Amino acid sequence: MSIIISLDQGTTSSRSIAFDHSGTPVASSQQEFRQIFPQPGWVEHDALEIWSSQLATLRNLMQKLPLAGIKSAQHAINSIAITNQRETTVLWERATGKPVANAIVWQDRRTAPTCDALRKAGKAALIQRKTGLVLDAYFSGTKLAWLLDHTPGARQRAENGELCFGTIDSWLIFNLTGGHNPAATHKALHVTDASNASRTLLLNIHTGQWDDELLKLFDIPRAVLPRVVPSSGVVGVTDAALLGQEIPIAGIAGDQQAATFGQACFSPGMAKNTYGTGCFMLMNTGTSAVASKNQLLTTIGWQGPANARAAYALEGSVFMGGATIQWLRDGLGLISQAAEVEALANTVADTGDVYLVPAFAGLGTPHWDSYARGTLIGMTRGTHRAHIARAALESIALQSADVFEAMRADSGIALKELRVDGGACANNLLMQMQADFLGVPVVRPKVTETTALGAAYLAGLATGFWKDAGEISAQWQMDRRFEPQLSASQRHSKLSRWREAVQRSKRWAMV
Ligand code: ADP
Repeated sequence: MSIIISLDQGTTSSRSIAFDHSGTPVASSQQEFRQIFPQPGWVEHDALEIWSSQLATLRNLMQKLPLAGIKSAQHAINSIAITNQRETTVLWERATGKPVANAIVWQDRRTAPTCDALRKAGKAALIQRKTGLVLDAYFSGTKLAWLLDHTPGARQRAENGELCFGTIDSWLIFNLTGGHNPAATHKALHVTDASNASRTLLLNIHTGQWDDELLKLFDIPRAVLPRVVPSSGVVGVTDAALLGQEIPIAGIAGDQQAATFGQACFSPGMAKNTYGTGCFMLMNTGTSAVASKNQLLTTIGWQGPANARAAYALEGSVFMGGATIQWLRDGLGLISQAAEVEALANTVADTGDVYLVPAFAGLGTPHWDSYARGTLIGMTRGTHRAHIARAALESIALQSADVFEAMRADSGIALKELRVDGGACANNLLMQMQADFLGVPVVRPKVTETTALGAAYLAGLATGFWKDAGEISAQWQMDRRFEPQLSASQRHSKLSRWREAVQRSKRWAMV
């Protein structure tokens, strides 16, 4: 049996998963690592801990392979794929591989004032035109500028070519290809793939190149940037000293783009929604980068081998998805485990006109209102915990319905169905609500590890492990399909009631 190993480096844990030729996970290993909160609104990771936890899971997985029926890892591993938490920013020394500071995590808000200043200077439209992104602290560009400004000597050293910037994909590849080993650091590759590069605010997504005007705007020296490589293609091999053999690294993509690939959304108009901590919906728009009029992001989905034209996607982000259920558990104590919410919500037929707008951290797509706050509205003396649990579940589906509507409006494509994945897609009631609020079927696959699987697919297409996209599409298997059960008028009145509740949550924290 031959396998591909995906390294799935997430926000709270590092995982390694082995997939066989049928796309089935055959072994996995996971390790959590520290979240560092130095000040309110700041979130950091220790880049060395990210690397050591990732390497530990990879080594642990390789030890488990015989149990999965793989006798000789030496011959069985076709290639390694990488998928990662996006936008998180690492800065390290090229000669030693040592980080010069903690990594700044995508959730970190410290550069919001920089974004406000650029917006005031009228730069948002230019930035959106070139990068497809909304000017927000979420992305890497202002985080990198912050590190260069606040680490003594860093800007000069970056200009001299002594420092490397990278998102987590770059950081892992640098270490995998020799950066971890003083005897091999000179061989280490400094690269990133097109999907990760498109989240930095520094890449022109239409040319696929770093953009001088943007570099000037964010004050970033070109010498610090990695080389942009395709998402599917062999970029190099792992340092032999690391795993006892050289293994090709053949696939790289940011987590949400990888999940879209893992859901086999290969044709324009196909879309997926991931229900994790937040919800991320991506729709393939083919080779055209569709500019959003509805506050969606335009992003590179993936770039094939030999510089084939990139596939683009529209993306919408909901900050509080499954995290809303965590709040029911940890904030309110209504349930003791996330999965209990389904049974509790099912004890009532409806929410009794109660709405929860979980704007605990502001609202993302399509509102981008950092000042919105959580709102629970419509309660009477008859309201009890089950109504609130049901309203919380509905809020996940209703926020996603708003993103879906923005996608329809921007693309002009009537989406026929939505593929789903992520931890909360196990909730059948939530999936039924989603089909009802969208008015199209919701389809859940058998393998919901779509992020790691998508990266494996990108690697396997580059090495010939899989023949083509058709072979992969044929592997995609449905677990369950949820058909919409509301009439169009019931759906519209639900959505308009929800939008009224959203309006009341907005701009609450403005001072
Ligand atoms: P992430 O990758 O963002 O850490 P996961 O895909 O592992 O997230 O999903 C975990 C999230 O899903 C948690 O926020 C949890 O509250 C939520 N969740 C898990 N199971 C259920 C369930 N049965 N119903 C609703 N939410 C759930």
